[in-house]
Amino acid sequence: MRKGLLFVLSGPSGVGKGTVCSVLRQKMPELVYSVSATTRLPRQGELDGVNYFFKTKEQFKDMIARDALLEYAEYVGNYYGTPRDFVERTLESGKDIILEIEVQGALKVKEKFAEGIFIFLLPPSLDVLKERITGRGTETEDLIQNRMNVAVEEMNLLQHYDYAVVNDDLDAACHRIESIVTAEHCKRSRY
Ligand code: 5GP
Repeated sequence: MRKGLLFVLSGPSGVGKGTVCSVLRQKMPELVYSVSATTRLPRQGELDGVNYFFKTKEQFKDMIARDALLEYAEYVGNYYGTPRDFVERTLESGKDIILEIEVQGALKVKEKFAEGIFIFLLPPSLDVLKERITGRGTETEDLIQNRMNVAVEEMNLLQHYDYAVVNDDLDAACHRIESIVTAEHCKRSRY
């Protein structure tokens, strides 16, 4: 059986990756969404196993030791990682999967899956990005500044990606990503 395609949606925190992914989930139910593990505490409304698998630092370190993560990164004081088994099983079964992860992790995935399709989601501007992070109301001023500093460094890594999508408008950004998925299928004669 032909393996599925691995899509990686990445970009700075606050750019709207999560929102874009939740719209794509509805528009493209045939795409499988990877649920990450994290040591960050749940935000209001987030559910274990749906938004993330919430882990203690010890549990996360144990996953690292068991090589259970395809990639992981420390991001603003917490660990985030992609459970390996689920991704590999999905691809083996012929289904496409999408990972929504930060930039360092995406580059690690690229080392292992050079054939993956890497999409960078960009904010229309850094000012808009700061407004979005601040507007969430979940972060302290220090954390916001931290996330902005990381964002600027991450933007410099855009060159390693196959596609850049500006998230100026949610529907337009999702439409562009749908077009990328279609184009990648056509490229491989998958109709
Ligand atoms: P948040 O705390 O806002 O949910 O996520 C912070 C950052 O971690 C976001 O940029 C998000 O995309 C990223 N992230 C979520 N899951 C993973 C993962 O499994 N691996 C990596 N490397 N980053 C992740």
